[in-house]
Amino acid sequence: MTIHSFNPPPRTLMGPGPADVHPRVLAALARPTIGHLDPAFVAMMDELKTLLRATFRTQNALTMPVSAPGSAGMEMCFLNLVEPGDEVVVCVNGVFGGRMRENVERAGGKPIVVQGTWGRAVDPDQVESALGQHPRARILAFVHAETSTGASSDAKALAAIARRHDCLTIVDTVTSLGGSPVEVDAWGLDAVYSGSQKCLSCTPGLAPVTFSERALEKVRARTTKVRSWFLDLNLVMGYWSGEQKRTYHHTAPVNALYALHESLVMLAEEGLEQTWKRHRHHHLALRAGLEALGLELIVPEAERLAQLNSVSVPTGIDEAVLRARLLQRYNLEIGAGLGDLAGKIWRIGLMGYSSRPANILLCLGAFATELEAMGHHGDAGAALAAARAVLDQGFDAP
Ligand SMILES: *Cc1c(COP(=O)(O)O)cnc(C)c1O
Repeated sequence: MTIHSFNPPPRTLMGPGPADVHPRVLAALARPTIGHLDPAFVAMMDELKTLLRATFRTQNALTMPVSAPGSAGMEMCFLNLVEPGDEVVVCVNGVFGGRMRENVERAGGKPIVVQGTWGRAVDPDQVESALGQHPRARILAFVHAETSTGASSDAKALAAIARRHDCLTIVDTVTSLGGSPVEVDAWGLDAVYSGSQKCLSCTPGLAPVTFSERALEKVRARTTKVRSWFLDLNLVMGYWSGEQKRTYHHTAPVNALYALHESLVMLAEEGLEQTWKRHRHHHLALRAGLEALGLELIVPEAERLAQLNSVSVPTGIDEAVLRARLLQRYNLEIGAGLGDLAGKIWRIGLMGYSSRPANILLCLGAFATELEAMGHHGDAGAALAAARAVLDQGFDAP
């Protein structure tokens, strides 16, 4: 058998990530590879840090992309901030909160779990009482945008509670960054990580991170070595922040960083606040269409993410069959439920470049047509008209 070049099918990505990547970002990837210590590349990296600071809304000096996916950003935060024996209050309201708990354990810390409800925001009162009961805890960890359920938590309120209890925060913004407001400095977040392939709509494989001075003080005060060589901030800092004396740590993923640079330039061109509005507006259009089909979102309205919509599977419908048909007939990818929600929901992502009118109308038309074929009532015309009516209102409508 001869193996030929791989040419992926032309998919539309409306799952939980990766999102569609804009042609400008793909074109940036194909530019010539240069040395990662080349002065031209180093200048590009400095721009990248500036662009990331603007996206995270922070002045933090230590703001950079980790050369690995979002999960590595998570590990970097936990491995550096948590020392063996540290008590860490971890909020678990979905899959990614569960991974945070696992990270605390692997870093040698003691997780104190605030068990939340899947599909709901983290409850600030529960966090307040957990911190009150565990005065030795010095860190609060939570997921801002739970991609496994579509719930958005109040990062500002949770960070304020942490501060009152003299705790640092570790915050997962993988799905929120670039899709809904993330205000690292204004909210006082300390160790924050994200991912390139969700609302930043870059290719997968990079994890933007930012650390406050308070977080770095805790890292510097460690009495034990960080249990990872690759993710040890002390070593990575020499590479990313040593202005004159940039030393070799690892070979940066040169072309992937061109792509992230391009995606952040595009985000800045659109305007961050405008991007947030676009995500919100398109969510409302999708919601209107889904409601016209009699479908329900599982997250209460006030806690819903615009960029990840969890839809209840109607009784009698095999959710996997519908997803397979969308992929085969429409080249459209949506997500399945995870964990407690497996088989019960579909997850429709409207992230970054995927959040655009053509995708919404494709998705609603495909859903209506296939649901109807499976015996559920599905009026495609009504769904498209409902979405269209919202889209026609424009962004600044109340
Ligand atoms: C996708 C995701 C991650 C993990 O990112 P990877 O790039 O897949 O490693 C972590 N947290 C949340 C909330 C996510 O959505």
